Amino acid sequence: MKQQKQFTCQDIEHEGEDIQGFCLNLGCQDSKPQFCLQCGVDPMKHSNCKKDLKGFGYISSFITKFNQNILDLTTQLDKSFVQVKQKYEEFSKQLEKIKLQLLKISQYLNQQDYNQMKENLQLIKEGYQYLNNQEEIKKQNQIGTQLINIKQMIEAWDLNKIQQQTQYIDHQSILQQGLQLLNQQKWQQANELLIKNIKNLEKQLSFAKFFQSISLIEMNQTGIGINMRDQAKKINSNLFKDLLDYSDQELKQNPQNAFILIAKSYALNDEKQFQLAIQQCDKVLLEEPQNIHALYRKCFSLFDLKEYEQAIQCIDKALISNSKYSIGLSMKGVSLEKLQFCLFFFNKQQKPILNQFFSLLFT
Ligand SMILES: [Zn+2]
Ligand SMILES: [Zn+2]
Repeated sequence: MKQQKQFTCQDIEHEGEDIQGFCLNLGCQDSKPQFCLQCGVDPMKHSNCKKDLKGFGYISSFITKFNQNILDLTTQLDKSFVQVKQKYEEFSKQLEKIKLQLLKISQYLNQQDYNQMKENLQLIKEGYQYLNNQEEIKKQNQIGTQLINIKQMIEAWDLNKIQQQTQYIDHQSILQQGLQLLNQQKWQQANELLIKNIKNLEKQLSFAKFFQSISLIEMNQTGIGINMRDQAKKINSNLFKDLLDYSDQELKQNPQNAFILIAKSYALNDEKQFQLAIQQCDKVLLEEPQNIHALYRKCFSLFDLKEYEQAIQCIDKALISNSKYSIGLSMKGVSLEKLQFCLFFFNKQQKPILNQFFSLLFT
């Protein structure tokens, strides 16, 4: 009590006034957090955080409340740790058991003891379905179900994914923070935060429009698709640079993501990195040689490299799968036109070789 008496307001005009409490606003701009009754009504003090001036009584009950919250969180964390630990032990045992069984079976195989192998074939059958037809696994496949459960738990604990989810929440909370600042009439800070939020949203919107443009073009709605792509570029003048960053991030999670690989090729092509763009398409074509979207984009980059013959060969593969693929047909059209244009000039200088060249190309 004696000490509290000594804690008086430093403001000369408020001499001797007892301090009532503290300002709890994290963004408070005032030099001193403590306030007396006169500070509380002074419009020059804590002007943006009057509602956060809290008396010692309030602070005391707040500490109790905050402490309870921390205790609850500790209990939840402990509980979830016990659960995870149980699951971890259970799953480790299951994996160990499978390993031992596999060892036994391969011993039977080495000893050509096919009867014993037959006795244990269930495990191999279940594993075979797990590795080849995961989507068909039902409860009856015990090993398969166990392994899927284990994978799911690992995924649930994947820290990268948790961080991604938090990033998503951040978008929402930026808007919330903005509203709070507006309520506190911190116009400048609110403005800066909202600019950041709008930029993020514009980036998301430009990606959505760009991806939509791709699906429209792939559905032969080329005109609307190209229009949509122009809209995406208008919203975000940095579209392809952002797309490159985005696809690199996504590919870190899953390097085989075919659509993202092709999306990256668009971005690289825009940066005039044609060879690298082709490499992305080739990665997809290695797995799916008939991916017509990848064939079209590879053709597009070959065209930009002025490799018209190769561009035609490439788009022809796509047109075999879908002879009505309209963007493919127009790519073939412009490539043929360019090729003939080149041949025309070639003609003037080297007529004899030209005939040979023609016969090679068009027979
Ligand atoms: Zn004061
Ligand atoms: Zn304050």
